[in-house]
Amino acid sequence: MHKLVVANYKMNGNIKFFRSLNILNKLKLRDTKIVLCPPFLYLPIVKLKNKSISLGCQNISQFINNKSTGEISPLMLKEFNVCYAIIGHSERRAIGETDDMVANKVINALNHDITPIICVGENNKEEGLSLVKTQVKAVLKAIDKSGIEKTKEVIFAYEPVWSIGTGKLPTIKDIDKAVKLIKTTAKLLVNTKVLYGGSINGDNFTDLTNSIADGFLLGGVSQKLEEFKKIVKGVDA
Ligand code: PEP
Repeated sequence: MHKLVVANYKMNGNIKFFRSLNILNKLKLRDTKIVLCPPFLYLPIVKLKNKSISLGCQNISQFINNKSTGEISPLMLKEFNVCYAIIGHSERRAIGETDDMVANKVINALNHDITPIICVGENNKEEGLSLVKTQVKAVLKAIDKSGIEKTKEVIFAYEPVWSIGTGKLPTIKDIDKAVKLIKTTAKLLVNTKVLYGGSINGDNFTDLTNSIADGFLLGGVSQKLEEFKKIVKGVDA
């Protein structure tokens, strides 16, 4: 099963930066796929000519009708060749995105053949994994109820909130425990991957490749092209 490296650019970058990502087309990867997730406006700027690289977005509408001012539908995203959508990032949950909203977005994405990358994670280190289990279960319940085929690819990203942008990392043992819990909770799904995300950089990623996670979700380091390439090549090695 190939590894996945997802770049979440958040609300960063400009036309010049997203044009510069074209250099990534030169990467020759054996068994790793990359997903680049720029802000919506820059999606058409990223010109991909490499089968190992796909386009993703950072959010998707939960609505299916057109009376939704300011929202972006899966149909619109597909016009720009978007194949993946990050859903339920902790920065969106922090501004009010609930488990129900996350579940609706996941269904909307899957119904239009966009692969969801669902972010889950505990807020504090001491909290344990009960919130993670609840977040995964909410999505599973919605998928089960929707009648969507269980063979569709669904990706989870285990992102402890306390690790995002803080430089603090969980132990490999703790990452593996979360990955196992997510896979067990989502066992209904045939085609799942669980990534790890939070404070990964060009120096600490080698150790993290020893975890059972199926790849990484990268935040801040995605903006540093040389370091990003180093991580991708290391994962692919
Ligand atoms: C993220 O925001 O999803 C993330 C992983 O951020 P960072 O790598 O900057 O911690």
